[in-house]
Amino acid sequence: MEKILNYINGELTAPKSGDYFDNYNPSDGQVYSLVPDSDAADIDLAVKAAQDAFPAWSSMPKEKRCDLILKVVEKLEASSEMLVAAESKDNGKPEWLARMVDIPRASANLKFFATASLHFASETHDMDGMALNYTLRKPIGVAGCISPWNLPLYLLTWKIAPALAAGNTVVAKPSEITPMTAFLLSKICIEAGLPKGVLNIVHGYGNKVGDALIRHPDTPVISFTGGTVTGAHIAKTAGPMFKKLSLELGGKNPNIVFADADLDKAVATSVKASFTNQGQICLCGSRLYVQQEIYEAFKTAFIAKSAELVVGDPKEEGSNLGAVVSKEHMEKILAKIEEAKAEGGKVLLGGKRILLEGDLKDGYYIGPTILEGLKADCITNQEEIFGPVVTISPFETEEEVIALANSTKYGLSASIFTENLSKAHRVAAAIDSGIVWINTWLLRDLRTPFGGMKNSGVGREGGFKSLQFFTEEKNVCLKI
Ligand code: NDP
Repeated sequence: MEKILNYINGELTAPKSGDYFDNYNPSDGQVYSLVPDSDAADIDLAVKAAQDAFPAWSSMPKEKRCDLILKVVEKLEASSEMLVAAESKDNGKPEWLARMVDIPRASANLKFFATASLHFASETHDMDGMALNYTLRKPIGVAGCISPWNLPLYLLTWKIAPALAAGNTVVAKPSEITPMTAFLLSKICIEAGLPKGVLNIVHGYGNKVGDALIRHPDTPVISFTGGTVTGAHIAKTAGPMFKKLSLELGGKNPNIVFADADLDKAVATSVKASFTNQGQICLCGSRLYVQQEIYEAFKTAFIAKSAELVVGDPKEEGSNLGAVVSKEHMEKILAKIEEAKAEGGKVLLGGKRILLEGDLKDGYYIGPTILEGLKADCITNQEEIFGPVVTISPFETEEEVIALANSTKYGLSASIFTENLSKAHRVAAAIDSGIVWINTWLLRDLRTPFGGMKNSGVGREGGFKSLQFFTEEKNVCLKI
């Protein structure tokens, strides 16, 4: 069986312990590769390699750093079909989705930040001719980058690309549940000639190897994407060490449809917002609020369109949804659906595991699930489920829906559907979330600030914000 290896100091290496654990293919429930069970000893080696590589990498002209990252992109793009198949097999997502979104976005992240670094400038503050202040921005050192399983290569590159482009070296920890494309990226970096130690990837359990990475005294900057509970643990650990922290956490995003919305477009977009990637995107709209006048019409169309979605073999073009990421996650989602029923929720669609046939009979499939009749303050409407599950509720007024939208501890994203421009602006300004879409969902421009309010995170990434995060500022004041 294939053994995944760590990438440390430019080489593929076995974990010091020699131990591995099973990696499952969620589409058929079978073990298909082994993941290094790394620990603090491997993190020590990786951090040392990254420290040793830092002086040369950080002082290299940025054009040369950019060229080296673009060589990785070239190799990555040449291997895109292999990466598509690997991402789908490791995560359960349909291949078409990995081909359309995950892998192109991984390449776009690397290209975007490599070239952005060429345009990154610092400020000056002129004191009326008496003095001049200018701001230096320097790479910080070894960046620790921790990413989740839902968009494995996409979110790993979202972190490592700006860290590297800004001149830091990196130790990355992908999710143990989906390590394969990070392993393939390691091989690609070797082929592309990325200098040794610049990027290191250590695989293993979050509470072991991830924890060692955030506790390490020589990782002064940590960028984390994952759940809110893990984020709180990281903040508690890294905060007293005064590490620079970026936390991109969970969401419970409202999707608001006003009576004057374009109904067909609102329905089609809401279906995507609810169920893309089996609902396992932090930006998915999991609370659907529809204005009373169109509630029944919208609900009927939404159920009908969701019912058309095919849950099936991730390899098939016709499968709209593949498998959820793991057996544990499937069981968690099904338990959440039972909890919703106990809270008074009525299942309008789905609600069950789907058993496919043949080789896929043991895969982890759940049908698109729509729940109605749940109060705003119930657990189902307050806690993230992170699966193909959406609640639908009516509302009467703009004020009421703003209060509903803001009624959770999260504040990551929101979508608003209306043809009234003034209302769209008013509601967008009143919702407590880091990202608001009007008449669309998941339309992303990599230059914009990305991140959440409240328990959805701290800090913003994206565009120059990422390069600012991965650099230390120093003001120099020169008396004239
Ligand atoms: P987790 O928080 O469980 O894990 C995220 C990463 O942290 C994984 O690599 C995990 O490793 C690692 N980790 C776990 N425990 C620790 C620890 N004690 N110290 C350091 N690292 C640790 O999240 P999931 O992987 O389950 O991802 C889903 C969550 O991510 C959802 O809540 C989702 O909303 C959020 N998310 C947020 C996004 C955003 O941009 N705001 C985008 C995408 C997802 P391992 O898996 O090996 O345990």
